[in-house]
Amino acid sequence: MHNNGIKALKGMGLAHQALRQDELRNLKGDIGIGHVRYSTMGASNLDHAQPVVMSTNYGDIALAHNGEIVNADHLRDELKKKGWAFATSSDSEIIIRLLANDISNTGDPARSIRNVMSLLNGSYSMTLMVDNRVFAIRDPYGMRPLCVGRTKEGYAAASESVVFDTLGGEFMRDVEPGELVELLPGEVKSIKTGLAKGRAHCMFEWVYIARADSCLDGRLVYDVRRKIGQRLAIEQPVEADVIVPVPDSGRSHSMGYAEKIGIPYSEGLMKNRYVERTFIMPDQTDRSTGVMLKLNPLKSVIKDKRIVLVDDSIVRGTTMRQIVQLVRNAGAKEVHVRVGSPPIRAPCYFGIDMKTRDQFAATGRTVEEIAKMLTADSLGYISIEGLVDAIGLNANDLCLGCLNGEYPLPVEGEKVRFQKKLDSFA
Ligand code: SF4
Repeated sequence: MHNNGIKALKGMGLAHQALRQDELRNLKGDIGIGHVRYSTMGASNLDHAQPVVMSTNYGDIALAHNGEIVNADHLRDELKKKGWAFATSSDSEIIIRLLANDISNTGDPARSIRNVMSLLNGSYSMTLMVDNRVFAIRDPYGMRPLCVGRTKEGYAAASESVVFDTLGGEFMRDVEPGELVELLPGEVKSIKTGLAKGRAHCMFEWVYIARADSCLDGRLVYDVRRKIGQRLAIEQPVEADVIVPVPDSGRSHSMGYAEKIGIPYSEGLMKNRYVERTFIMPDQTDRSTGVMLKLNPLKSVIKDKRIVLVDDSIVRGTTMRQIVQLVRNAGAKEVHVRVGSPPIRAPCYFGIDMKTRDQFAATGRTVEEIAKMLTADSLGYISIEGLVDAIGLNANDLCLGCLNGEYPLPVEGEKVRFQKKLDSFA
């Protein structure tokens, strides 16, 4: 943000490829927001890259959104009937247009943000620049993470607390579900919206998405993952020689598993650090090639051994199948797979790219059949109850929708949560 309004820089690829250092250095101003997009709604192209910027009578507005709006199609249709036009299929464009329109009526950004929040159903953690002010909001269930902290330059909001460590700053607190905060030079001002509806934190953030050194809603992700591994060892023990983590996201789970079961832990798969995470590649072909480029088995660890491969989760199963085969080809005597998430059986409508039931390894298959598909000697998942215990929050405070098909808020054609007791899910 500078005298001439908001300037936006966008690019495709990893952040260090997309944004050139000289362009970043040329940005002037005291405030700003940034976004790294993980595409769920809207195609993966530059038109959908964020922040989205719009010019209004009130001044420039910019928005960066993590999450997904369930009623986006309904809102877009209603607005089109009123004569509104849209340039993209993104839910974020609907939000910024609603906001721009409301601010021209109220002239009060905080009031307009609240008004727009009351129209949205779904998950959203957002940062907003309105003229020369910066706001951050979290959806009424707190599905996606959001926290605030202080740095040498002032206050900031981020999805994960690790950002403040990286900037040499300090994590202050999580933004509460339904809370609106304004980042001012001398304080983080909390503005009550009255929209909080309870809690439904996404369990998958602790299982896979967040960095292990982040603290989400009072729980260090690394600690949760180790506890998941320990519980997994109690629920799914196996006789074996070596525990091998699937790097990087299965590492903390594996440590917990090895500690509890008393079998040595060894890095039997070396990761090429220049290849990005395969799950977040939008295209399946990229994902398959990605595994072979990404991992190299260490024969000295694997050959003639009974191996337990521990990973955070299995979504489609294609990546794990390739890893099992890599390990077999490196001479493993047996390959057992243990997983730090219960089987994923239902779509996510709240910001994680798992959209249709037919893509899941667990759809229509027993655990034995999934093991066969993976070419593993055995397969074991943590239970839903085990996962909830390891996270350490009440089940009512979590979203478990992709595990049990019951969602925290209404989704057309799906059940709303708490219809069955947790232990009734196998
Ligand atoms: S459905 Fe699954 S991935 Fe989506 S928000 Fe809920 S727990 Fe997270």
